[in-house]
Amino acid sequence: MTAAIIDGKAFAASLRVKVGELAAAFAAKTGRKAGLAVVLVGEDPASQVYVRSKGKQTVEAGMASFEHKLPADTPEADLLALIDQLNTDPAVDGILVQLPLPGHMDEQKVIAAINPDKDADGFHVINVGRLGVGQPGFVPCTPLGCLMLLKDQLGSLSGLNAVVIGRSNIVGKPMAQLLLAESCTVTIAHSRTKDLPAVVRRADIVVAAVGRPEMVKADWIKPGATVIDVGINRVPAAEEGKTRLVGDVDYAGAMAVAGAVTPVPGGVGPMTIAVLLRNALVAAYRNAGLELAADAI
Ligand code: NAP
Repeated sequence: MTAAIIDGKAFAASLRVKVGELAAAFAAKTGRKAGLAVVLVGEDPASQVYVRSKGKQTVEAGMASFEHKLPADTPEADLLALIDQLNTDPAVDGILVQLPLPGHMDEQKVIAAINPDKDADGFHVINVGRLGVGQPGFVPCTPLGCLMLLKDQLGSLSGLNAVVIGRSNIVGKPMAQLLLAESCTVTIAHSRTKDLPAVVRRADIVVAAVGRPEMVKADWIKPGATVIDVGINRVPAAEEGKTRLVGDVDYAGAMAVAGAVTPVPGGVGPMTIAVLLRNALVAAYRNAGLELAADAI
């Protein structure tokens, strides 16, 4: 048996088309483009790449992109003042502060300063709480993207056993909440979990968000399970001096056992920015008091 490959790249492209259509409709209704502001502090090379692609994809979707680049030694008070300004700027619908922040800044304090109704990343405690109690809010982009892929692949998730490996605030915990809201029976595994292979073997759905290359082996996976690999790990390639990306799952092994698997790259990765655009657009509709059907996007 060979598992189906879940094509996150194609799904993300179709999501961006939908965002583009709704962004055009928003502009026609309001006379302005929906806007996403991205704040980058410092010169972390990976963050610079992310911010560049976020800006490019925002513009391609017909939205306005506002980029704010601050030097690494910016005082925290200056960043908080900028966030305050973005919170009240009517042209800005979504705000994202690229993490990680330099060591002298308190990330929780900075996230708490963002208006929760413009919190496109869904990291504000108000949005964490809204997700917990099932109120409309904003959900972190990577786990929401994983959920979209799962629903596209499986339809209803009701009653399925889901195991999420990893309990970070940005992936594992919100992923578990989303799966619970879909009526899965959810287990959250982490570094202290006893007999992880046995726990994973019970899962109809496995979401691996660990950051350990190819940790999840084929014999951990229940035949026919759906495997979502969030991990992005750089490892040495066969060719001297080169590297390649692998996930948290032994992809070749999983392909022989699972029902469906996300590849790395090309699975979860491309979903994150597409969902960010989706969140910013939803913020624009909500904050303008415009109707957006629950299943519109
Ligand atoms: P993180 O904050 O480092 O969390 C990792 C989690 O894995 C922790 O809960 C940790 O448990 C658990 N863990 C570590 N070793 C383990 C082990 N041996 N067995 C079981 N659990 C173990 O990482 P993250 O931010 O959630 O990211 C996870 C991975 O996803 C990374 O590879 C990251 O690059 C990737 N990622 C991808 C995207 C994307 O595709 N766009 C977005 C975000 C993250 P403890 O809590 O007990 O320490």
